[in-house]
Amino acid sequence: MSIRLRLTLWYVLLLAALLITFSGALYAMLSFSLLNEVDRRVQIRASEVSTSLATALEVQTEPRVFLLRGGRLTLPAADTFATPGVFVQVSTLEGVALSRSENLGAQTLVVSTAALALVAQGNSVYANVTKDRVPLRVLIVPLTVRGQVVAAVIVAESLQGVSETLQRLGVLLILGIIVGLGVAGVVGAILAHAALAPIDRITQTAHTIARSNDLTRRIQTKPTQDEVGRLAATFNAMLERIEELFRAQQRFVADVSHELRSPLTTIRGNLDLLRRGEREDTETRQETLAVIEAEAARMQRLVQDLLLLAQADAGVPLEQRVVELDTLLLDVFRQVRLNAANIHVSLGSEDQIQVIGDADRLKQLFLNLMNNAIQYTPSDGQVTLSFAREGEWARVVVADTGIGIPPQDLPRIFDRFYRVDKARAREKGGTGLGLAICKWIAEAHGGRIEAQSQVGKGSSFTVWLPLAKTTNPR
Ligand code: ADP
Repeated sequence: MSIRLRLTLWYVLLLAALLITFSGALYAMLSFSLLNEVDRRVQIRASEVSTSLATALEVQTEPRVFLLRGGRLTLPAADTFATPGVFVQVSTLEGVALSRSENLGAQTLVVSTAALALVAQGNSVYANVTKDRVPLRVLIVPLTVRGQVVAAVIVAESLQGVSETLQRLGVLLILGIIVGLGVAGVVGAILAHAALAPIDRITQTAHTIARSNDLTRRIQTKPTQDEVGRLAATFNAMLERIEELFRAQQRFVADVSHELRSPLTTIRGNLDLLRRGEREDTETRQETLAVIEAEAARMQRLVQDLLLLAQADAGVPLEQRVVELDTLLLDVFRQVRLNAANIHVSLGSEDQIQVIGDADRLKQLFLNLMNNAIQYTPSDGQVTLSFAREGEWARVVVADTGIGIPPQDLPRIFDRFYRVDKARAREKGGTGLGLAICKWIAEAHGGRIEAQSQVGKGSSFTVWLPLAKTTNPR
């Protein structure tokens, strides 16, 4: 069932419930008050009749005997009290009519003996009877003379007017409900259609994009602040992001192919030379083999780095162990110092630091930074590794006095395959993925990495990592 139909149905159902409740209450209230009014009228009339008759009978010595015999006394005619639609009858307590208003014709008002029994005990009793298929509201009151109930006065009023009024009201209400619901259904369907039309457009656009693979498409809607407007805006923003990711992916694949192609070309070229026997003497042969080996090693590094980044993208979780960061950094320091022939590698401040994480990855992070510092620092330059605790954080700084990074390149050096000087970086065997990996490792540990640099003066890379909560000085 479509949302449009469901919305309309709910709307109509709710309105139906409201209208029916309201009409029912109106009908009940009106019929109650109309019947109450009738009851009040017959009551007034009955007490008038019974008081007048009682006064007339007070003078009689044996009213009961007389009444039962049926007629020596002249009762004030019951008709005196009758008005159109109001009937009056005086009956014995056994139900025999003694006097009737003329508008009753030949008819007698018949009431139940149970009611008469109650009246004989001095009670007033309301009842409903039917005369000529006309419903009547009846009140039977005792006619009391000298403290004795001698007869029953029956006053009846036709309920025809009331029932006609109620009937007309009922018909009117039912018609009103039907027409109201019909109009509500149509209006509801139109409104739901208008409100949901933009969603249909969104669906169509999504469909077109899926069919044509065209990520440049956007939903054309008026920029509104309502729910649908926000949905369209969110959808467009999502498309924008997907397009961006898709382009990045394309760029990445192109970069990877390019990076793999150059070592492969070099390897094949050199293999070709060897095969053609142009490298006869041992020395040049060794040189050629060394080039092939270096290129193969570079490819291996590249593939390893790519694999690592693929794991990072897939969200593969890192180990979560306590790592003695100071020990790890001293290891890195020793290892790097061995390879740095003409560069002074020294330690700055040192501190005992524990962090939680993956020791291998953290080592890779700092090796990358230290190797970069050495690579981009000319002979006789200086590379310093310092680490300290600062509040809740461990701060590790790798500073060099190298060539530096131009300000316009600085924000991009953490991008994959971004290099300031492509030829130079490649010649040094870099994959262009090192800093991207460093950034991922730092962030995967809940930390961050920052770079500062001045061309010609040097660079410094700062890594912030959260300290292990259980840090206890050894
Ligand atoms: P690469 O494998 O090329 O070194 P990285 O991702 O490690 O790739 O570094 C990206 C680029 O950032 C490098 O090509 C280089 O231009 C620049 N760079 C990184 N570290 C330094 C540094 N310490 N001094 C100057 N430039 C640097």
